Amino acid sequence: MLRRDLLVVLFVLMMVSNVAVGQESEAKKFIATCSTTQVADFTREIVGDRWEVRCILVPGQDPHTYETKPGDTKMVAEADLIVRNGWHLEGHEWMMNLAKDANKPVVTCVDGVKSLILEEGGVEVQDPHAWLSPINAAIYVRNIVKGVSQIDPKHRIEYEARGELYVAQLRTLHLWVQRELNKIPRSQRVLISHHDAFSYFCTLYGFAAASPGGWSTGDEIGAGITAERRQKVVDSIRSYNVKAIFVETTVNPKLVRQIAADAGVKVAGSLYADSMGGPGTAAESYLGMMRENVILIVNGLK
Ligand SMILES: [Zn+2]
Repeated sequence: MLRRDLLVVLFVLMMVSNVAVGQESEAKKFIATCSTTQVADFTREIVGDRWEVRCILVPGQDPHTYETKPGDTKMVAEADLIVRNGWHLEGHEWMMNLAKDANKPVVTCVDGVKSLILEEGGVEVQDPHAWLSPINAAIYVRNIVKGVSQIDPKHRIEYEARGELYVAQLRTLHLWVQRELNKIPRSQRVLISHHDAFSYFCTLYGFAAASPGGWSTGDEIGAGITAERRQKVVDSIRSYNVKAIFVETTVNPKLVRQIAADAGVKVAGSLYADSMGGPGTAAESYLGMMRENVILIVNGLK
């Protein structure tokens, strides 16, 4: 064979093998299907472009009251890994049930978090809103790193590196939150919103919390609005001389507005609790939603 012909053959072989490698990596992209916008954001930060990250809830949807659709079953069936919050945030365990039906491995992000227990009429419930503390968010991140590394051990070092960089950002966020919230006098550190989403946040940053809605917006035990809770909130606003209360982006603001009118305080805005903001908003990431919340809280209460 002539030298020139040999070079042509080699070139063609290289092209073919490149195409094959390209197709292989394209075909082998792992899929993570997540329940909430926050755990999807953490997962994206960890896997970069190696995985396709899908999220069942869209921004603004309530995980407590969500009802699954046929499309969700498909999203779970196609996934290599399921990422959920846990502790009944996904009302009546809808994400776990979908994962079990499809026999998929699951990362439960709250694993290893020290839970706050809510007691309601003799029933104890683990408060699921742990991600609203950046310290707990770091535990979520490490659980996801472990989960994706088990499915794709070849890139474990990469996932750990992205995870640790993100944890460093969470630490910076935590220090910034502390500094900002210090602008609010101690006597004014009372956070009142629709439901008990902010207990971890309040415990970490020295706030008292109150809500008319209980631990969930759904119909689980110990959840929901009662006349007694509503009255307690109005009393708290008056006795602490609270300047402002907050609505939440995933729930109807009507009740909080009524309470504000009854108690004679203003509504300072809408907090991101169970969902991040939509694409293109300042709260479209976890870091962004925490920043927007803190700015709103400081402006409302200082
Ligand atoms: Zn909630």
